[in-house]
Amino acid sequence: MNYMKTFTAALVAAIQCLVAISAEPGKTDGESRACPLVFINSTFENASPLFWEINKVGEVEVSLMYDHERSSPNRAAGHWHFRVEAPKGSELTLILGNLQNIYNGHKGSPASKNTMSFVSADSRSWQPAQMELLEGDRLKLKLKMLGNSMYVARLEPYRLSDLDKFLQAIRPHPRVTITEIGRTVEGRPLEIVRIGDEDAPRRILLRARAHPWEPGGNWVIEGLARRLLKDDLQSKAYLERYCVFFMPMANKDGVARGWTRFNVLGKDLNRNWDVKSDPHLCPENYALETWIEKQIAAGRRPDFMIDWHNDQGGRVHISRPNIDLKAYLAKMKRFETLLRQHTWFTEGATGGNYRNPGSIGEGLLERYGIHACIHELNANRIAGLDDYPSAKNWKLYGEQLCEVFYRLFEKEKTD
Ligand SMILES: [Zn+2]
Repeated sequence: MNYMKTFTAALVAAIQCLVAISAEPGKTDGESRACPLVFINSTFENASPLFWEINKVGEVEVSLMYDHERSSPNRAAGHWHFRVEAPKGSELTLILGNLQNIYNGHKGSPASKNTMSFVSADSRSWQPAQMELLEGDRLKLKLKMLGNSMYVARLEPYRLSDLDKFLQAIRPHPRVTITEIGRTVEGRPLEIVRIGDEDAPRRILLRARAHPWEPGGNWVIEGLARRLLKDDLQSKAYLERYCVFFMPMANKDGVARGWTRFNVLGKDLNRNWDVKSDPHLCPENYALETWIEKQIAAGRRPDFMIDWHNDQGGRVHISRPNIDLKAYLAKMKRFETLLRQHTWFTEGATGGNYRNPGSIGEGLLERYGIHACIHELNANRIAGLDDYPSAKNWKLYGEQLCEVFYRLFEKEKTD
Protein backbone atom coordinates (compact mmCIF):
# COMPACT_ATOMS: atom_id res chain seq x y z
CA MET A 1 0.00 0.00 0.00
CA ASN A 2 2.83 2.37 0.87
CA TYR A 3 4.27 1.73 -2.53
CA MET A 4 0.92 2.64 -4.14
CA LYS A 5 0.66 5.86 -2.05
CA THR A 6 4.15 6.90 -3.04
CA PHE A 7 3.39 6.15 -6.68
CA THR A 8 0.13 8.15 -6.58
CA ALA A 9 1.86 11.10 -4.90
CA ALA A 10 4.60 11.02 -7.53
CA LEU A 11 2.01 10.88 -10.30
CA VAL A 12 0.10 13.87 -8.86
CA ALA A 13 3.36 15.82 -8.53
CA ALA A 14 4.27 15.00 -12.13
CA ILE A 15 0.87 16.17 -13.40
CA GLN A 16 1.12 19.38 -11.38
CA CYS A 17 4.54 19.96 -12.85
CA LEU A 18 3.24 19.42 -16.38
CA VAL A 19 0.36 21.83 -15.76
CA ALA A 20 2.82 24.38 -14.40
CA ILE A 21 5.05 23.97 -17.46
CA SER A 22 2.14 24.33 -19.88
CA ALA A 23 1.04 27.56 -18.11
CA GLU A 24 4.60 28.83 -17.87
CA PRO A 25 4.46 31.75 -20.40
CA GLY A 26 1.89 33.71 -18.39
CA LYS A 27 2.82 32.50 -14.90
CA THR A 28 4.08 34.90 -12.23
CA ASP A 29 3.41 35.26 -8.51
CA GLY A 30 0.70 32.59 -8.60
CA GLU A 31 -1.79 35.15 -9.99
CA SER A 32 -1.41 34.58 -13.68
CA ARG A 33 -4.18 33.42 -15.93
CA ALA A 34 -3.51 30.70 -18.46
CA CYS A 35 -3.29 31.83 -22.08
CA PRO A 36 -4.34 29.43 -24.83
CA LEU A 37 -1.83 30.85 -27.35
CA VAL A 38 0.40 28.23 -28.94
CA PHE A 39 2.26 30.31 -31.53
CA ILE A 40 2.15 33.38 -33.76
CA ASN A 41 3.39 32.85 -37.29
CA SER A 42 4.65 35.97 -39.05
CA THR A 43 6.94 34.40 -41.64
CA PHE A 44 4.63 34.20 -44.67
CA GLU A 45 4.15 36.59 -47.59
CA ASN A 46 3.11 40.09 -46.40
CA ALA A 47 3.16 39.00 -42.71
CA SER A 48 4.33 41.81 -40.45
CA PRO A 49 7.62 41.59 -38.55
CA LEU A 50 6.84 41.37 -34.80
CA PHE A 51 7.64 39.73 -31.50
CA TRP A 52 5.20 38.67 -28.80
CA GLU A 53 4.95 37.76 -25.13
CA ILE A 54 2.19 36.80 -22.69
CA ASN A 55 1.62 39.22 -19.83
CA LYS A 56 0.61 38.53 -16.22
CA VAL A 57 -3.10 38.47 -16.95
CA GLY A 58 -2.80 36.12 -19.89
CA GLU A 59 -3.05 38.69 -22.70
CA VAL A 60 -0.83 38.36 -25.75
CA GLU A 61 1.25 41.50 -26.24
CA VAL A 62 2.21 41.79 -29.88
CA SER A 63 5.02 44.25 -30.55
CA LEU A 64 5.10 45.37 -34.16
CA MET A 65 8.42 46.37 -35.73
CA TYR A 66 8.90 49.82 -37.19
CA ASP A 67 10.35 50.47 -40.61
CA HIS A 68 12.51 53.57 -40.78
CA GLU A 69 13.13 56.41 -43.20
CA ARG A 70 16.64 57.11 -44.33
CA SER A 71 18.31 60.29 -42.95
CA SER A 72 15.16 61.09 -41.00
CA PRO A 73 13.52 60.55 -37.60
CA ASN A 74 10.45 59.15 -39.37
CA ARG A 75 9.37 55.61 -38.57
CA ALA A 76 6.20 53.68 -39.19
CA ALA A 77 4.32 50.63 -37.94
CA GLY A 78 0.68 50.35 -38.90
CA HIS A 79 0.50 47.19 -40.92
CA TRP A 80 -0.30 44.01 -39.08
CA HIS A 81 -0.83 40.62 -40.60
CA PHE A 82 -0.10 37.39 -38.73
CA ARG A 83 -1.48 33.95 -37.97
CA VAL A 84 -2.44 33.02 -34.44
CA GLU A 85 -2.35 29.38 -33.41
CA ALA A 86 -4.50 28.34 -30.43
CA PRO A 87 -7.10 25.60 -29.82
CA LYS A 88 -10.38 25.93 -31.71
CA GLY A 89 -13.05 27.55 -29.53
CA SER A 90 -10.60 29.33 -27.23
CA GLU A 91 -10.56 33.10 -26.84
CA LEU A 92 -7.52 35.33 -26.73
CA THR A 93 -6.91 38.96 -25.97
CA LEU A 94 -4.30 40.51 -28.24
CA ILE A 95 -2.70 43.86 -27.46
CA LEU A 96 -0.93 45.48 -30.39
CA GLY A 97 1.85 47.88 -29.49
CA ASN A 98 4.72 49.85 -31.02
CA LEU A 99 2.34 52.10 -32.89
CA GLN A 100 4.11 55.29 -31.86
CA ASN A 101 5.05 56.47 -35.28
CA ILE A 102 6.95 59.55 -36.36
CA TYR A 103 5.44 61.13 -39.47
CA ASN A 104 6.95 64.21 -41.13
CA GLY A 105 9.06 64.66 -37.96
CA HIS A 106 6.05 64.63 -35.62
CA LYS A 107 4.50 61.96 -33.42
CA GLY A 108 1.55 60.23 -35.01
CA SER A 109 -0.17 56.93 -34.52
CA PRO A 110 -2.50 54.72 -36.54
CA ALA A 111 -4.13 53.76 -33.22
CA SER A 112 -7.45 55.53 -32.69
CA LYS A 113 -10.82 54.65 -31.23
CA ASN A 114 -12.00 53.95 -34.78
CA THR A 115 -9.11 51.76 -35.89
CA MET A 116 -10.36 48.58 -37.54
CA SER A 117 -8.85 45.18 -37.85
CA PHE A 118 -9.90 42.14 -39.85
CA VAL A 119 -9.87 38.46 -38.94
CA SER A 120 -10.15 35.34 -41.04
CA ALA A 121 -10.02 31.57 -40.58
CA ASP A 122 -8.72 30.95 -44.11
CA SER A 123 -7.03 34.25 -45.08
CA ARG A 124 -9.53 34.65 -47.96
CA SER A 125 -12.82 35.53 -46.30
CA TRP A 126 -12.34 38.41 -43.83
CA GLN A 127 -14.57 39.76 -41.09
CA PRO A 128 -14.22 43.21 -39.51
CA ALA A 129 -13.27 43.42 -35.83
CA GLN A 130 -13.46 46.65 -33.85
CA MET A 131 -10.51 47.27 -31.57
CA GLU A 132 -10.31 49.06 -28.25
CA LEU A 133 -7.87 51.94 -27.86
CA LEU A 134 -5.62 51.62 -24.80
CA GLU A 135 -3.13 54.05 -23.27
CA GLY A 136 0.21 54.34 -25.01
CA ASP A 137 -1.25 54.08 -28.54
CA ARG A 138 -1.99 50.39 -28.05
CA LEU A 139 -4.95 48.48 -29.47
CA LYS A 140 -6.83 45.60 -27.91
CA LEU A 141 -8.48 42.88 -29.98
CA LYS A 142 -10.58 40.00 -28.66
CA LEU A 143 -10.04 36.99 -30.88
CA LYS A 144 -12.34 33.96 -30.92
CA MET A 145 -10.63 30.96 -32.46
CA LEU A 146 -12.90 29.54 -35.19
CA GLY A 147 -10.27 26.89 -35.99
CA ASN A 148 -6.86 26.00 -34.64
CA SER A 149 -5.42 29.00 -36.45
CA MET A 150 -6.77 32.45 -37.30
CA TYR A 151 -5.38 35.28 -39.38
CA VAL A 152 -5.41 38.87 -38.15
CA ALA A 153 -4.74 41.79 -40.51
CA ARG A 154 -5.10 45.58 -40.46
CA LEU A 155 -7.05 45.51 -43.77
CA GLU A 156 -7.99 42.76 -46.20
CA PRO A 157 -4.56 41.84 -47.50
CA TYR A 158 -3.57 42.25 -51.14
CA ARG A 159 -0.36 40.29 -51.59
CA LEU A 160 2.11 39.95 -54.43
CA SER A 161 0.51 36.58 -55.18
CA ASP A 162 -2.88 38.32 -55.49
CA LEU A 163 -1.36 40.73 -58.00
CA ASP A 164 0.31 37.90 -59.94
CA LYS A 165 -3.01 36.06 -60.15
CA PHE A 166 -4.79 39.22 -61.32
CA LEU A 167 -2.18 40.00 -63.97
CA GLN A 168 -2.25 36.41 -65.18
CA ALA A 169 -6.03 36.59 -65.51
CA ILE A 170 -6.10 39.81 -67.55
CA ARG A 171 -2.90 39.32 -69.58
CA PRO A 172 -4.52 37.37 -72.47
CA HIS A 173 -7.17 40.02 -73.05
CA PRO A 174 -6.57 41.86 -76.36
CA ARG A 175 -7.11 45.24 -74.71
CA VAL A 176 -4.39 44.60 -72.10
CA THR A 177 -0.68 45.28 -72.44
CA ILE A 178 1.69 44.63 -69.53
CA THR A 179 5.17 46.13 -69.73
CA GLU A 180 8.00 45.76 -67.26
CA ILE A 181 9.50 49.22 -66.79
CA GLY A 182 12.08 48.52 -64.09
CA ARG A 183 12.88 46.56 -60.97
CA THR A 184 12.57 47.22 -57.24
CA VAL A 185 15.63 47.43 -54.97
CA GLU A 186 15.35 43.67 -54.43
CA GLY A 187 14.84 42.95 -58.13
CA ARG A 188 11.08 42.44 -58.30
CA PRO A 189 9.56 43.50 -61.65
CA LEU A 190 7.68 46.81 -61.78
CA GLU A 191 4.85 46.71 -64.29
CA ILE A 192 2.84 49.29 -66.14
CA VAL A 193 -0.45 47.81 -67.27
CA ARG A 194 -2.34 49.49 -70.08
CA ILE A 195 -6.01 48.92 -70.73
CA GLY A 196 -7.23 50.28 -74.02
CA ASP A 197 -5.65 51.98 -77.01
CA GLU A 198 -2.61 54.13 -76.18
CA ASP A 199 -3.78 56.57 -78.84
CA ALA A 200 -7.17 57.05 -77.21
CA PRO A 201 -8.07 60.75 -76.88
CA ARG A 202 -7.27 60.81 -73.13
CA ARG A 203 -4.79 58.95 -70.94
CA ILE A 204 -5.21 58.22 -67.22
CA LEU A 205 -2.33 57.10 -65.01
CA LEU A 206 -2.89 55.34 -61.68
CA ARG A 207 -0.43 54.10 -59.09
CA ALA A 208 -1.12 51.92 -56.06
CA ARG A 209 0.81 50.72 -53.05
CA ALA A 210 3.58 53.27 -52.62
CA HIS A 211 2.99 52.48 -48.94
CA PRO A 212 2.78 48.77 -48.20
CA TRP A 213 0.18 48.87 -45.40
CA GLU A 214 -2.34 50.49 -47.78
CA PRO A 215 -3.99 47.84 -50.01
CA GLY A 216 -7.09 49.93 -50.87
CA GLY A 217 -5.73 51.14 -54.21
CA ASN A 218 -5.04 47.60 -55.36
CA TRP A 219 -8.65 46.62 -54.83
CA VAL A 220 -9.88 49.80 -56.57
CA ILE A 221 -7.66 49.11 -59.57
CA GLU A 222 -8.89 45.51 -59.78
CA GLY A 223 -12.50 46.69 -59.82
CA LEU A 224 -11.76 49.31 -62.45
CA ALA A 225 -9.81 46.94 -64.70
CA ARG A 226 -12.40 44.22 -64.58
CA ARG A 227 -15.15 46.73 -65.45
CA LEU A 228 -13.20 48.07 -68.42
CA LEU A 229 -12.60 44.52 -69.67
CA LYS A 230 -16.25 43.46 -69.65
CA ASP A 231 -16.55 43.92 -73.41
CA ASP A 232 -20.02 45.41 -73.18
CA LEU A 233 -21.20 48.55 -74.98
CA GLN A 234 -20.43 50.73 -71.99
CA SER A 235 -16.83 49.57 -71.61
CA LYS A 236 -16.31 50.09 -75.35
CA ALA A 237 -17.59 53.65 -74.98
CA TYR A 238 -15.24 54.25 -72.04
CA LEU A 239 -12.23 52.98 -73.95
CA GLU A 240 -13.05 55.03 -77.00
CA ARG A 241 -12.64 58.11 -74.82
CA TYR A 242 -9.70 57.10 -72.61
CA CYS A 243 -7.11 54.47 -71.89
CA VAL A 244 -5.81 53.65 -68.42
CA PHE A 245 -2.21 52.98 -67.45
CA PHE A 246 -1.45 51.74 -63.97
CA MET A 247 1.52 50.76 -61.84
CA PRO A 248 -0.28 48.28 -59.59
CA MET A 249 2.27 47.83 -56.82
CA ALA A 250 5.06 50.36 -56.45
CA ASN A 251 6.54 49.09 -53.17
CA LYS A 252 6.61 45.34 -53.86
CA ASP A 253 9.55 44.72 -51.54
CA GLY A 254 7.73 46.36 -48.63
CA VAL A 255 4.52 44.45 -49.38
CA ALA A 256 6.40 41.13 -49.52
CA ARG A 257 8.06 41.82 -46.16
CA GLY A 258 4.94 43.13 -44.44
CA TRP A 259 6.40 46.60 -43.90
CA THR A 260 4.38 49.74 -43.36
CA ARG A 261 5.70 52.72 -45.31
CA PHE A 262 9.22 52.80 -46.76
CA ASN A 263 11.13 50.89 -49.41
CA VAL A 264 13.88 48.55 -48.22
CA LEU A 265 16.47 51.33 -48.41
CA GLY A 266 14.34 53.63 -46.26
CA LYS A 267 12.88 55.83 -49.02
CA ASP A 268 9.28 57.01 -49.02
CA LEU A 269 7.87 56.48 -52.51
CA ASN A 270 5.49 59.39 -51.99
CA ARG A 271 8.29 61.86 -51.31
CA ASN A 272 11.02 63.62 -53.30
CA TRP A 273 8.88 63.92 -56.45
CA ASP A 274 9.94 67.59 -56.61
CA VAL A 275 13.38 66.49 -57.85
CA LYS A 276 14.77 63.73 -60.06
CA SER A 277 14.58 60.25 -58.56
CA ASP A 278 17.66 58.43 -57.34
CA PRO A 279 17.96 55.27 -59.48
CA HIS A 280 19.80 53.34 -56.74
CA LEU A 281 17.98 54.34 -53.56
CA CYS A 282 14.59 54.64 -55.18
CA PRO A 283 14.42 52.56 -58.40
CA GLU A 284 10.64 52.22 -57.96
CA ASN A 285 10.18 55.96 -58.49
CA TYR A 286 12.98 56.23 -61.02
CA ALA A 287 11.28 53.64 -63.26
CA LEU A 288 7.95 55.49 -63.18
CA GLU A 289 9.54 58.91 -63.70
CA THR A 290 11.53 57.63 -66.68
CA TRP A 291 8.40 56.05 -68.16
CA ILE A 292 6.44 59.31 -67.72
CA GLU A 293 9.18 61.32 -69.43
CA LYS A 294 9.19 58.88 -72.37
CA GLN A 295 5.41 59.13 -72.64
CA ILE A 296 5.62 62.92 -72.72
CA ALA A 297 8.39 62.82 -75.32
CA ALA A 298 6.18 60.57 -77.47
CA GLY A 299 3.30 63.06 -77.24
CA ARG A 300 1.36 60.95 -74.74
CA ARG A 301 1.41 63.03 -71.57
CA PRO A 302 -1.02 61.57 -68.99
CA ASP A 303 -4.09 63.83 -68.76
CA PHE A 304 -4.97 62.77 -65.25
CA MET A 305 -3.17 60.90 -62.49
CA ILE A 306 -4.27 59.36 -59.18
CA ASP A 307 -1.97 57.90 -56.55
CA TRP A 308 -3.93 55.67 -54.17
CA HIS A 309 -3.41 55.65 -50.41
CA ASN A 310 -5.18 54.70 -47.18
CA ASP A 311 -5.56 56.90 -44.11
CA GLN A 312 -8.18 57.80 -41.53
CA GLY A 313 -9.77 60.59 -43.58
CA GLY A 314 -10.33 59.38 -47.15
CA ARG A 315 -10.03 62.75 -48.87
CA VAL A 316 -8.67 63.72 -52.28
CA HIS A 317 -5.50 65.77 -51.75
CA ILE A 318 -5.34 68.73 -54.09
CA SER A 319 -1.98 70.47 -53.82
CA ARG A 320 -1.48 74.09 -54.76
CA PRO A 321 2.13 74.67 -55.78
CA ASN A 322 3.17 78.11 -57.00
CA ILE A 323 2.16 77.73 -60.65
CA ASP A 324 -0.87 78.66 -62.75
CA LEU A 325 -3.51 76.38 -61.22
CA LYS A 326 -6.64 77.53 -63.05
CA ALA A 327 -7.10 74.52 -65.35
CA TYR A 328 -5.99 72.08 -62.66
CA LEU A 329 -8.36 73.37 -59.98
CA ALA A 330 -11.26 73.40 -62.45
CA LYS A 331 -10.51 69.78 -63.39
CA MET A 332 -10.26 68.71 -59.75
CA LYS A 333 -13.51 70.43 -58.84
CA ARG A 334 -15.23 68.62 -61.66
CA PHE A 335 -13.64 65.35 -60.55
CA GLU A 336 -14.92 65.76 -57.00
CA THR A 337 -18.44 66.58 -58.22
CA LEU A 338 -18.47 63.49 -60.46
CA LEU A 339 -17.20 61.30 -57.63
CA ARG A 340 -20.08 62.43 -55.46
CA GLN A 341 -22.57 61.80 -58.29
CA HIS A 342 -21.37 58.41 -59.53
CA THR A 343 -19.59 56.68 -56.64
CA TRP A 344 -19.92 56.21 -52.88
CA PHE A 345 -17.40 59.02 -52.29
CA THR A 346 -18.46 61.66 -49.73
CA GLU A 347 -15.19 62.56 -47.97
CA GLY A 348 -14.30 65.71 -49.90
CA ALA A 349 -11.01 67.29 -50.92
CA THR A 350 -8.31 69.40 -49.30
CA GLY A 351 -9.00 73.12 -49.62
CA GLY A 352 -7.37 76.42 -48.68
CA ASN A 353 -3.71 76.60 -49.56
CA TYR A 354 -3.04 72.91 -48.99
CA ARG A 355 0.36 71.74 -50.18
CA ASN A 356 2.34 68.54 -49.78
CA PRO A 357 5.69 69.25 -51.43
CA GLY A 358 7.44 66.15 -52.69
CA SER A 359 4.26 64.09 -52.92
CA ILE A 360 3.70 62.55 -56.34
CA GLY A 361 0.53 64.60 -56.84
CA GLU A 362 2.28 67.92 -56.38
CA GLY A 363 5.52 66.80 -58.06
CA LEU A 364 3.91 65.61 -61.30
CA LEU A 365 1.76 68.74 -61.45
CA GLU A 366 4.66 71.11 -60.86
CA ARG A 367 7.28 69.39 -62.99
CA TYR A 368 5.25 67.96 -65.88
CA GLY A 369 1.93 69.81 -65.79
CA ILE A 370 0.08 66.53 -65.19
CA HIS A 371 -3.25 66.96 -63.40
CA ALA A 372 -2.32 64.64 -60.54
CA CYS A 373 -3.60 64.03 -57.03
CA ILE A 374 -3.31 61.78 -54.02
CA HIS A 375 -6.54 59.94 -53.29
CA GLU A 376 -6.78 58.60 -49.75
CA LEU A 377 -9.23 55.81 -48.96
CA ASN A 378 -10.58 55.75 -45.41
CA ALA A 379 -9.21 52.64 -43.71
CA ASN A 380 -11.80 52.61 -40.92
CA ARG A 381 -15.18 53.42 -42.44
CA ILE A 382 -16.83 54.11 -45.78
CA ALA A 383 -19.23 56.88 -44.82
CA GLY A 384 -21.15 56.90 -48.13
CA LEU A 385 -22.06 53.22 -47.72
CA ASP A 386 -22.18 53.24 -43.91
CA ASP A 387 -20.02 50.15 -44.10
CA TYR A 388 -16.51 49.03 -43.26
CA PRO A 389 -13.73 49.21 -45.86
CA SER A 390 -13.73 45.83 -47.55
CA ALA A 391 -12.18 44.59 -50.77
CA LYS A 392 -15.71 44.32 -52.15
CA ASN A 393 -16.51 47.98 -51.45
CA TRP A 394 -13.22 49.18 -52.90
CA LYS A 395 -13.68 47.09 -56.06
CA LEU A 396 -17.12 48.66 -56.43
CA TYR A 397 -15.47 52.10 -56.23
CA GLY A 398 -13.12 51.09 -59.05
CA GLU A 399 -16.07 50.04 -61.21
CA GLN A 400 -17.85 53.33 -60.51
CA LEU A 401 -14.75 55.33 -61.42
CA CYS A 402 -14.98 54.21 -65.05
CA GLU A 403 -18.05 56.42 -65.45
CA VAL A 404 -16.39 59.28 -63.55
CA PHE A 405 -13.43 59.27 -65.97
CA TYR A 406 -15.78 59.05 -68.93
CA ARG A 407 -17.61 62.19 -67.83
CA LEU A 408 -14.48 63.97 -66.66
CA PHE A 409 -13.37 64.25 -70.28
CA GLU A 410 -16.87 64.78 -71.70
CA LYS A 411 -16.48 68.48 -72.44
CA GLU A 412 -12.73 68.45 -72.63
CA LYS A 413 -12.49 71.54 -74.85
CA THR A 414 -13.95 73.75 -72.14
CA ASP A 415 -11.58 72.48 -69.42
ZN1 LIG B 1 0.09 56.39 -48.01
